[in-house]
Amino acid sequence: MSDGVRWLGAWPHTQGAAHARTGFAAAFGGEPSGVWAAPGRVNLIGEHTDYNNGLCFPTALPHSTYLALRPRTDDAITLVSAQMPRSAPWTATLNAVGPGTVAGWGTYVAGTAWAMAAGGAYGGSGFDAFVASCVPGGAGLSSSAALECSAAVALDELGGGSLRQTDEGRAILVQCCVRAENEIAGAPTGGMDQSASLLARAGHALLLDCLTGATEHVPFDLTSSGLTLLVIDTRAHHALVDGQYASRRSQCEQAARRLGVESLRQAADAVASGTWALSEVLDRLDDPVLIRRTRHIITEIGRTAQFAELLRAGRLDEIGPLLDASHASLRDDYEVSARELDAAVVAAREAGALGARMTGGGFGGSAIAVVPLGTEGHVAGAVHGAFATAGFEPPAFALAPPMQGAARIA
Ligand code: ADP
Ligand code: MG
Repeated sequence: MSDGVRWLGAWPHTQGAAHARTGFAAAFGGEPSGVWAAPGRVNLIGEHTDYNNGLCFPTALPHSTYLALRPRTDDAITLVSAQMPRSAPWTATLNAVGPGTVAGWGTYVAGTAWAMAAGGAYGGSGFDAFVASCVPGGAGLSSSAALECSAAVALDELGGGSLRQTDEGRAILVQCCVRAENEIAGAPTGGMDQSASLLARAGHALLLDCLTGATEHVPFDLTSSGLTLLVIDTRAHHALVDGQYASRRSQCEQAARRLGVESLRQAADAVASGTWALSEVLDRLDDPVLIRRTRHIITEIGRTAQFAELLRAGRLDEIGPLLDASHASLRDDYEVSARELDAAVVAAREAGALGARMTGGGFGGSAIAVVPLGTEGHVAGAVHGAFATAGFEPPAFALAPPMQGAARIA
């Protein structure tokens, strides 16, 4: 693989478990009750559709967050993270955790305990826990959900629960993790990240219907089609992301009101069934910005459904154009791309990718490219070179075969 190209390797579970156990012993002394791992995620297609009750289609990454945890007899929570080497331990008492009462990285863990306790899913005590993670942070690959979901499966087990044993139970844990992120950590995210981290199956992508809550595990075996999924972390983070996210949400709500539908999902369904023509829907909006935003959401939901059809039919070598069209729509109609993301997808395609797109919320973060197996080093080298020529910070790369969701690993 080319010189200077940085790969974000995933730890094997044995290494992650050893890291978490060693860190736990150093921080707290003795042995944890166990080590639980939860993966980050990457969304294949279906971007900005979740809050429009649409479809999205994530897989779990081979990169996980490892949590070594031991219950206490009192209700104190003490957390140490290998990723926060210069911080003092994060502390709180379980009874004192609530909206607005705690801050900092520990809110993702303590908030999960709080939400589970509030929902009757955790009746246990406080705990000591050590966190070690190889999920790239701030790359849009959901290190936050990985942290929450590692805590959710650990607390379910140690509290004597069995939610982690079924998909239905895991869906309840998803809701607890979403509440932790929204109400305690204060990040207004939907449920895609937590669903992927808790529900994903190895070798499958997870089709999520954000209207009905239905999930489908669709086989996604790129290797047998001679392909692989390359993740490109652009290292770019542009300002105003939170404001832009909120403005996209409100534009979608405004468009739905003008169309007289509950959400743009209803408009997408009407277009898909032939009840409405897309042009007819857009004409009724009578505002160029709302037209562009709505066109992205309707076509993106359609592309996600088509993507699922191709996967079900095993026609993986045909998914490239859908990825390309998704990127163009996010760049031109939804206007959430960034120069670095555009450069990454162009360079990847020129180097032989079948298709490429930005993934995640946008304005930086990561892109994905589907590339012929064995060419990932060449494609990464080409993207790395294009970034150097453009004067961008060097990107980082990861391979992303679809892995399974959160579980106890030691
Ligand atoms: P993303 O989820 O895309 O990586 P977020 O901003 O949603 O980005 O979440 C990142 C935050 O999650 C970090 O700022 C930190 O508070 C918390 N976090 C994630 N992983 C860890 C970790 N291993 N140790 C400590 N905090 C973490
Ligand atoms: Mg996050």
